[in-house]
Amino acid sequence: MRIRSRLAVFGVLFLTASLRDARAQNIDFAAIEVQTVKIADGVYVLMGGAAQGNILVSAGSDGMLLVDSMYGPMHQKIVDALSKIGRQPIRYLVNTHLHGDHTAGNEAMARLGAVIISHENMRKRMAAAKNPAPAAALPVVTYNDRVTLHFNGEEIEIYHPEPAHTDGDSIIYFRHANVMHVGDVPSSLRYPNIGVDDGGSVDGMMAAARQVMTIANPATKIIPGHLGPVVGFKEIQQQLEMFAAVKDRVATAIRGGKTLEQVVASKPTADFDQGRMGGAITPDRFVTLVYTDLSRKAR
Ligand SMILES: [Zn+2]
Repeated sequence: MRIRSRLAVFGVLFLTASLRDARAQNIDFAAIEVQTVKIADGVYVLMGGAAQGNILVSAGSDGMLLVDSMYGPMHQKIVDALSKIGRQPIRYLVNTHLHGDHTAGNEAMARLGAVIISHENMRKRMAAAKNPAPAAALPVVTYNDRVTLHFNGEEIEIYHPEPAHTDGDSIIYFRHANVMHVGDVPSSLRYPNIGVDDGGSVDGMMAAARQVMTIANPATKIIPGHLGPVVGFKEIQQQLEMFAAVKDRVATAIRGGKTLEQVVASKPTADFDQGRMGGAITPDRFVTLVYTDLSRKAR
């Protein structure tokens, strides 16, 4: 039993890496148009479809600051979209976390002169990955607990939640505009990815979602990592309820000795599926991620 469940987990971990790559390759980048949405004066969101991370932009007299960089093939489309906002140089790029849908465009942005900023754990993981990112894609500035940028008249506060989606997450808050990019901390209504190989966990995801609602206020425009462009506390609450219920069901099944296959087949998300099918993570995949995290804790 013990060995079997270990083998199952090994299979899941292997699948995680290969699925991530496969997903990136299945995107028809040529067909994607970048959609620019103005959120406040000098603040924009660039959207490249559900599979890619939303980019938050600050544009003003100091230049441009971006949060995240999408996949590499999107670079020219992003630059074209930015040129319609203004002609300023891209001076900073802050990454919410290491996943390729948020960072694979880093190298090209660095070549344009952007200084890349991240949590120190994100840089460590990127540099140590099996297929490490090119040196130019790595953050130049890292922080540990919290850092503030004074840019375009804005106070841009970068917070690190306890390990959540990964162990190197950043939440970026434009205090004056009251706009916050939360990366892949649960927010928009889809099944979230959990970076189970990157220090992420179910409990961490839930804690970070609650933390967002203590740093932000009900009027804050919250930019999710995917979909959106803007969500509020209501969506975060709905995701927390879904997480709590699915966690409880999967944990009970694990205690009852159920295998991953049995738990997936029991469809423990069924009553939450409606409205959550628009993302890259299917219900079965989400259940697999929850099971992977909870079963290794149970061992
Ligand atoms: Zn991610």
